[in-house]
Amino acid sequence: MFDAVVVGAGPNGLTAAVELARRGFSVALFEARDAIGGGARTEELTLPGFRHDPCSASHPLGINSPAFRAMPLDRYGLEWVHADLPMAHPFPDGTAAVLSRSVAETAASFGPRDAGPYRRLVEPLLHRWDTLVRDFMSLPLSSLPRDPVGLARFGVNGLLPASRLMRRFRDERAPALFSGLAAHTIAPLNGLATGGIGLVFALAAHARGWPVARGGSQAVSDALAAYLKDLGGEIHTGYEVKRLDDLPPARAYVFDTSPTALARIAGLGRYYDRFRYGASVFKVDYALDGPVPWTAKEARSAGTVQVGPYRSDIGRALREASGGERAPETPFLITVQSSLADPTRAPEGKHTFWAYGHVPNGWDGDLTDAIERQLERFAPGFRDLVLARATMGPPELAARNANYVGGDIAAGAAAGLQVLLRPKLSLSPYTTPHPAVFICSSSTPPGPGVHGMSGHNAAKAVWRRLRDRS
Ligand SMILES: Cc1cc2nc3c(=O)[nH]c(=O)nc-3n(C[C@H](O)[C@H](O)[C@H](O)COP(=O)(O)OP(=O)(O)OC[C@H]3O[C@@H](n4cnc5c(N)ncnc54)[C@H](O)[C@@H]3O)c2cc1C
Repeated sequence: MFDAVVVGAGPNGLTAAVELARRGFSVALFEARDAIGGGARTEELTLPGFRHDPCSASHPLGINSPAFRAMPLDRYGLEWVHADLPMAHPFPDGTAAVLSRSVAETAASFGPRDAGPYRRLVEPLLHRWDTLVRDFMSLPLSSLPRDPVGLARFGVNGLLPASRLMRRFRDERAPALFSGLAAHTIAPLNGLATGGIGLVFALAAHARGWPVARGGSQAVSDALAAYLKDLGGEIHTGYEVKRLDDLPPARAYVFDTSPTALARIAGLGRYYDRFRYGASVFKVDYALDGPVPWTAKEARSAGTVQVGPYRSDIGRALREASGGERAPETPFLITVQSSLADPTRAPEGKHTFWAYGHVPNGWDGDLTDAIERQLERFAPGFRDLVLARATMGPPELAARNANYVGGDIAAGAAAGLQVLLRPKLSLSPYTTPHPAVFICSSSTPPGPGVHGMSGHNAAKAVWRRLRDRS
């Protein structure tokens, strides 16, 4: 009899397992794939020597995660490495707005009229960032807020749709960059709390940057797994769980899976029937013969580059991907240049390049040409550098990971209240009607991203219940 069995070795499953093992519980973890990591993997997808991150690549949430920061992951090989700039957002005139570690440099890149409003928006929150990030990543109520005033202050702006929050800006550059930040929700810019999501990404950059993991995102998973094993936890791969009976006896079962799969596996009937999945992405991993020839010099030294360019373009692309049947003709792109900061990713002089555009859930077309047309606008000559490419649309994403239903990489739409309260409208999102079954995936708060905080919060719910029972 184990104290806890965890299903799924993504960042949240691994974190939940570590948190429980750290408290002295016996833990076993079962993963369907042959390798651990879920959305934090690294593979030679194109050519030998090119190490690509098929899913997550950029880690503003990882480096700022209160759960990860409380673990000795550096001792298990995790090293965050930074490009000169966290992010750049180029425009057709060859200039770029930037998200820098420095608020002043960022504000200056927006132009004189929007520098002040940006500073007034972020500086008061940045001063209380460490408590703020812990408080909002622990909502709803998995622990009492340490700084309720700061949290309330964040909520005043953070609950607003991005479209509303951006009204304070007068020119085009700040809203363009901010729309790209809010677009990480993969939802229209007028959705509840999309402003808050944009703010979190900006604050994360100013606080600690947007790094990549040296050697690839797999290093995050491998460090968590090595720590878990040191704490006495067991990990079994190549073991897809279809029914609770597939698992050894345990006092608690913790699922790093979609709510839909959990309902099926644990016999929860229609409990999660109202849960909604959202839009997907079309992802391309490139092996390049040299660095991306961005026209804007700032983009040449940025870890992440957003290709919009403007608020209206980004808003349209998000609306089309979220609502429609067809993919946007001009997609908004998020791109990551991992090998700029981490030369271990590619042979000398060569580069890896990561890009995706948003597409509707379940869409089965090929967005490669539209993505490369966008890239050529801002980096003429890009196509000439391509040595090889690997593509993944919604069907391939869903086949790679059962949590990405219809290719929804956020494991749930950021629509309406579901952006905050998921997978149910409940103050206890990690528990289920089955007293021994819990859910810890990114379908629970605080939502998608490699930060482990869903696993951390769920582990608290588990150990409280185990403690109460004993
Ligand atoms: C293309 C893409 C780009 C992304 N980019 C970023 C980024 O740059 N930065 C960032 O922070 N985040 C990014 N993300 C999101 C991030 O990867 C996820 O939010 C995060 O991995 C979620 O962690 P998780 O542990 O909840 O689930 P996952 O990482 O999805 O892991 C779930 C695990 O459970 C396993 N599993 C599922 N069902 C079963 C079963 N029945 N039996 C056994 N095992 C099962 C799966 O195989 C998987 O290993 C990206 C995701 C994708 C797909």
